Amino acid sequence: MYNTHETSATPPRKRLFVSLMGVTCLIVVAAIFLVWWIPNRGLANIHPGLPHIVGIIMVVLSGTAILGTGLLVLTTALGKDIFLTRFMRLVVIKFLLPVIELVGRVMGLDKDRIRQSFIAMNNSLVTSQRIKVKPDRILVLLPHCIQLSDCEIKVTGDINKCVLCGRCSIKGLVEIGKKYGIDISVATGGTLARKVIVEKRPKLVLAVACERDLTSGIKDCYPLPVIGILNERPFGPCFNTVVDIAKIDEALLQVLEQKK
Ligand code: SF4
Repeated sequence: MYNTHETSATPPRKRLFVSLMGVTCLIVVAAIFLVWWIPNRGLANIHPGLPHIVGIIMVVLSGTAILGTGLLVLTTALGKDIFLTRFMRLVVIKFLLPVIELVGRVMGLDKDRIRQSFIAMNNSLVTSQRIKVKPDRILVLLPHCIQLSDCEIKVTGDINKCVLCGRCSIKGLVEIGKKYGIDISVATGGTLARKVIVEKRPKLVLAVACERDLTSGIKDCYPLPVIGILNERPFGPCFNTVVDIAKIDEALLQVLEQKK
């Protein structure tokens, strides 16, 4: 029997992403200052008041960068939708992530560690919105490698074909799907995952995958909220991977609309 709890991966941390956000914010502010400072003399030649006006614009831009970073940190720390959380997800996914990945690369940090941190930050922003979704509007998306490679049953298309032998995580996932009445799909790749999402039109996706696939999935699906759960790879990538069912349960309880 496969024990899904024995091989728990290191929990992803938001701290790294927050620290990199701080560094990025400093770089942005420094760049803004340089842009203002270097052509300052030239501006004064055009009009004596121009450096002053441009200076005010630069201060506003720097203040926005600092305030945005602070708000993001506060939102994820408190787990509350303080202000514009949905917009902040957009900023993090579309703008901050590429810059932070670049800063991380320059600093020699491991790509997957940054992605783990991004996924944790994204999850935190999604749950901060306190979204409550009916079970039939939640989709759990699994990678094909979560099924035991030598199982003869084809669960792609219908996970309920699993005969619950318990040799892989699919058993626990089928049980959790039945417990909450949630749709669970196994996708053999990004294209199929996108097709399933288009067909099922969920309001929230809970996706299980590796760092790379979760990061690209979260980016591709925006504005659809996606909670990412990392799989564990005791036998290396894309082969007989495992997921901690307790983490799925915990994440679902945060977003499921309670029956009245
Ligand atoms: S739990 Fe289901 S999918 Fe996994 S090996 Fe057993 S029958 Fe196959």
